[in-house]
Amino acid sequence: MNRRSDGGQHPVRGRLLRGLVALGLTTALLAGSTAPTGGIRSTAAAATTAHAAPVSTAAFELVSPTTKRPLQWPACRPIAYAINPAGMPKGMDAVIKRVMAGVQQQTGARFRYAGSTKRTFGAQSRPTVPTIVFAFTGKTKAYGHRFAYPGEIGMGGPVGAWYMSGDGRRYEAITSGRVLLSTAFAGKRTGAGATWQSLIRHEVGHALNLAHRSSRTAVMNPMLTSKAPSRFTSTEVAALKRVLQRKGCDYAAWSRL
Ligand SMILES: [Zn+2]
Repeated sequence: MNRRSDGGQHPVRGRLLRGLVALGLTTALLAGSTAPTGGIRSTAAAATTAHAAPVSTAAFELVSPTTKRPLQWPACRPIAYAINPAGMPKGMDAVIKRVMAGVQQQTGARFRYAGSTKRTFGAQSRPTVPTIVFAFTGKTKAYGHRFAYPGEIGMGGPVGAWYMSGDGRRYEAITSGRVLLSTAFAGKRTGAGATWQSLIRHEVGHALNLAHRSSRTAVMNPMLTSKAPSRFTSTEVAALKRVLQRKGCDYAAWSRL
């Protein structure tokens, strides 16, 4: 008999949400400046919880309190992604699909478009299969965040859960990922640089459990500038592979989360 345990002060507790990270654009970018200081600034600190990850795993949003390793997605089967079309700019689904195809190509993990969903960014229940949900908002305030262009234009993160079985074995995994994009953003759709495609790739990185990186040319740099790359760096790909479990996935255990 398996029961979700409720004890302990752990960063990853039954369906506790972590890893919401926001992006913002500065006026410098809006004005067309190419100054290296222009672009997106992070407001991530306010959105993450107070649990500090060990230095060695600081590259991740969710780290297991027991193993100290980043929480993983079961990725032996394709990971589903779905889009809530409410408020979606026309054709943006194609940009999302392009981003997901790129992540698949770079990591070897597979992603499957599961169609549209009514699931919202705020949904906390576990989906039936590991799923990344994309949603849009035209509001200036949503889920405790202020969206504007210039300003914050997106956020994303993984949702992790765990339970303890009767014999004391702990199972923990990522159950879903979520991305919220502000339709106030007026960037170009595709290509490298400060585009929707770059923004979505960055938020997918968060949804897959990557945290921010300081490298200016990293996808996970909190500043979305003209330097935003069209692909994850090799360091980021290595990090993605650590959170995408390709062998020995226990989907039966996952379904009990
Ligand atoms: Zn970010």
